[in-house]
Amino acid sequence: MPEPKNRTHSVREIKVKTPGGKVVLQFRRRKPKLAHCSSCRAKLPGIPSVVGRMSSLSRSQRRPERPFAGKLCSACARKVFMQKARSIGASS
Ligand SMILES: [Zn+2]
Repeated sequence: MPEPKNRTHSVREIKVKTPGGKVVLQFRRRKPKLAHCSSCRAKLPGIPSVVGRMSSLSRSQRRPERPFAGKLCSACARKVFMQKARSIGASS
């Protein structure tokens, strides 16, 4: 029976062959899912799927350097920019 901390679905079991030839069971944390676009649900590239290590990364490694980065994909962000430009142009 695994230890209580390892009795969860967020921990996966892997079998590792040691140099001595024994096969031992090891427990590794599962990687979290990739971030998704809140509009079209596409996977967001450029955002690492890490837990607890995000603060050690530099700011530019956490998400792309543009508005709506980490929330919207580039195509959806472009649509928003175009929509805003249209509304500004129509009012003036
Ligand atoms: Zn999108």
